[in-house]
Amino acid sequence: MNNNNYIKMNKQIRNDWSKDEIQNIYDLRLLELVYQAATIHREWHKSSEIQVCTLLSVKTGGCPEDCSYCGQAARYHTDIKVQALLPTETVIEHAQKAKDAGSSRFCMAAAWREVRNNKDFDRVIDMVKGVNNLGLEVCCTLGMLTEEQAIRLQEAGLHAYNHNLDTSESYYDEIISTRKFDQRLDTIHNVRKAGITVCSGGIIGLGETPADRVSMLATLATLPVHPESVPVNALARVKGTPLENNPKVPIWDMVRMIATARIIMPASIVRLSAGRIEMTEEEQAWCFMAGANSIFTGERETLLVTPNPGISEDMQMFQNLGLRPLTKENKNACSAI
Ligand code: SF4
Repeated sequence: MNNNNYIKMNKQIRNDWSKDEIQNIYDLRLLELVYQAATIHREWHKSSEIQVCTLLSVKTGGCPEDCSYCGQAARYHTDIKVQALLPTETVIEHAQKAKDAGSSRFCMAAAWREVRNNKDFDRVIDMVKGVNNLGLEVCCTLGMLTEEQAIRLQEAGLHAYNHNLDTSESYYDEIISTRKFDQRLDTIHNVRKAGITVCSGGIIGLGETPADRVSMLATLATLPVHPESVPVNALARVKGTPLENNPKVPIWDMVRMIATARIIMPASIVRLSAGRIEMTEEEQAWCFMAGANSIFTGERETLLVTPNPGISEDMQMFQNLGLRPLTKENKNACSAI
């Protein structure tokens, strides 16, 4: 295969990418990179459809971990208000609202280091059952998970589990000291073993090098099965965290990351995630062109710990760009636009 042309791959999924190959893709001339990613995107997905996921923080703040980018870590002095686990009925109400507003996936996040086998976990199991009954795809992000806990979630109807790699293995210790990169992989493995789909990506703007970004993508793209969802986050600079003064991530870096992820993991949903609030509509359009086909959305302030654009703003943007939310019905229809 010509090293500079990745679009003639005959709908083949590869799990044997080398870092050099991924670096070559990442370093392509930007417009060439976007063109190739956009072409591959059209071979694998309907380019007019964007999965809309609503994220609800079901337990906020007070986390014992020390992720340098996160305002929910108890040790940093941020403006985020600690909120105990929400009542199940409140969560179901939010899920219904999200469904009515066009979301097809509902993701519940709890700021825990790991899941413990206690009453709170029993309540999360009830939430998963309740949201599943509404006909939404249910996703959770609850920290580290054992295989047994993953099986309980799967049996309750959990569709996906989010567990990001955050950054490369070699840069990991600079960002988080309270857990190891390998523990991330262990949880991903437990989730996969339980038959839950995997949502895993990372964050750029943490001070990592382009080689770190490539290395993180290489870890994802060489898993035995690619994550079904790959969130690409730009650092949301939260006041009070060690990274609050990091420079804003340039839009072209986001576009490069998204396009590279699209080329090496063509079947995956690539999600434009945190940091979207700082992007203009035009910048987001570049991300969609580069192969992003999912967004997180939510009501400002009430749903998310770092704000995202509101649902109606997103629907207006979809209209402007000729996009529509992916629904369960059109998801099962045939592939090309
Ligand atoms: S584990 Fe999650 S909630 Fe806790 S500090 Fe890290 S990113 Fe924040």
